[in-house]
Amino acid sequence: MRYEDFYRQSIEQPEQFWAEQARLIHWETPPQQILDQSRPPFRRWFVGGTTNLCYNAVDRHLAHRAEQLALVAISGETGFTREFTYRELHREVNVFAAVLQQLAVGKGDRVVIYLPNIAEAVFAMLACARIGAIHSVVFGGFAAHNLALRIDDAQPKLLIATDAGMRGGKVISYKPLVDAALAESRSPPPHVLIVDRELDPLMTHMAGRDLDYASLRAQCRGAEVAVTWLESNEPSYLLYTSGTTGNPKGIQRDVGGYAVAMALSIRTVFDIAPGQVMFSTSDIGWQVGHSYNVYAPLIGGATSLLYEGLPTRPDPGIWWELCEKYGVRTMFSSPTALRVLKKQDPAWLKKYDLSSLQWLFLAGEPLDEPTARWITEAIGVPVIDNYWQTETGWPAITLMPGLDLKSVKLGSPGLPAPGYKIKVIDENSGEEVAPQQKGVLVFEPPLPPGCLTTVWRDDERYVVSYFSSFKDLLYNSLDWAIRDEEGYIWILGRTDDVINVAGHRLGTREIEESVATHPAVAEAAVVGVHDELKGQLPIVFATLKQDAGDGAAAIALAMQQCVVNRLGAVAKPSRVYVVNALPKTRSGKLLRRLLQALAEQRDPGDLSVLDDPAALEEIRRALARGPQLGG
Ligand code: AMP
Repeated sequence: MRYEDFYRQSIEQPEQFWAEQARLIHWETPPQQILDQSRPPFRRWFVGGTTNLCYNAVDRHLAHRAEQLALVAISGETGFTREFTYRELHREVNVFAAVLQQLAVGKGDRVVIYLPNIAEAVFAMLACARIGAIHSVVFGGFAAHNLALRIDDAQPKLLIATDAGMRGGKVISYKPLVDAALAESRSPPPHVLIVDRELDPLMTHMAGRDLDYASLRAQCRGAEVAVTWLESNEPSYLLYTSGTTGNPKGIQRDVGGYAVAMALSIRTVFDIAPGQVMFSTSDIGWQVGHSYNVYAPLIGGATSLLYEGLPTRPDPGIWWELCEKYGVRTMFSSPTALRVLKKQDPAWLKKYDLSSLQWLFLAGEPLDEPTARWITEAIGVPVIDNYWQTETGWPAITLMPGLDLKSVKLGSPGLPAPGYKIKVIDENSGEEVAPQQKGVLVFEPPLPPGCLTTVWRDDERYVVSYFSSFKDLLYNSLDWAIRDEEGYIWILGRTDDVINVAGHRLGTREIEESVATHPAVAEAAVVGVHDELKGQLPIVFATLKQDAGDGAAAIALAMQQCVVNRLGAVAKPSRVYVVNALPKTRSGKLLRRLLQALAEQRDPGDLSVLDDPAALEEIRRALARGPQLGG
């Protein structure tokens, strides 16, 4: 089918279109109404239908593909590979679900999962889905404070963690971070279930609170746990993401709409049919990991490869070796990972037979042309950039090789995905801008199935954050964009203070708050500056309560450590400037964009909003002098 016809039908006859797509999944009770828009901007898809994500991802395949590989968990760090057929996955998920039930976890309870890319993370997610518990996976690279914030918001009944992960050959203990997070948390769960990988011999258990998964698993061996059927719009999971405040938002997803979006996209976007192999290199702590390491390939009856570690360990050929070994058809990664591989000896790419590989998808951050060109030539398959957000759950702008591949235009993620009514509008008038003009990327309601349904326990924040900037309840993506005459969209970066480091979304406010925990700091401003490898890196400008003289460098180092300890190494500032003043507006708002422009040696633009011109000179001087840390 032509992309144009498919897309047009999704927009002009949404109910008919989505009723058709709903047949891709199993419904225990069919939906009674395809779309309910009686309370915009909320919308409900497949109202009255009951289904279950775990049933669709696992049980449904037992009849035809029980002996096919469902999940291959490879660790480039430990060197171990574990393979699970659909039958084995079914067994493991049932046992995990039985363990959850033993711990009194049931429908609607939250479970925080703080695990690296190991098979148990997938079992835990699917086990929650099976019994109607709401999982909230926290990225393993986040430190204690980030974990505590998420625990306090989700108020889980259980935390699932591990003794340790590994990165670059180094053991990274998780348990001390868990202990610190629970000490900080206002709503610590009664139990922590530990998947002990025996990587950290020094791990200690807190009697009564900490439980060993292996022992409980042994007790529940052979257990079968009935599927809990959920109404399509009940919550399936939460995933926290950064915004402009220091508090992350709990993006809430439904059951039926998400399952349909996964089933549709795995075929038409990612071109994966049952029995084929998908390799998404994302961490399960991010949205891509949820959707394309776990739910979509499994709902689609495919084999999913899950990878723990760096793309360069044990050697820079490891990902290509896996493509050859498992006959990967579609690979999904990030521009940063590819930029890392680009620096390696090109011989690694020639070493393996990549004839099975048909597509490489990249997402999460802007894809620069040199990287796109290099990898397209190196592997000889089309590289497909696709744009989405944690909020959307699946690509909003992409090409669809599983349906009808339109021409790739380097630098653009392509065309709107089905159901996304995309506009580029003027930020002041709200009117659509002409082709090639910069504007704000917005989606007209209703958002298609799969997108967030609300912010966890905060409907008001959902409305205010996304739907209150423009008339007609347009969804504000908070990204700048341009559309060309052929309808292709180019993404130009965020309109807010969110930054993107190696595809990881970070709020500058969260980093500022962490810097300000240092007792010597009066105020901090964090901005993202361009970096060749990671896209952007956070840098800090901070004022101190008292002149520190020669001690400023030591304080700068301590500020950096405050961020690493609270948020995790992912948010580590690359440079710290200690300054005497920060540029602000007359009403006292930090002018982060001005700081960013100066740090990137760009024109700072309109300076009339600046309260005190001396602050501008102070920043110029600091930049000329160099940072107290980094450089
Ligand atoms: P996250 O919610 O972490 O997936 O981050 C979403 C943000 O990443 C978007 O709002 C964009 O700013 C950026 N982003 C995601 N995909 C792309 C892409 N293909 N090109 C440019 N920016 C992207």
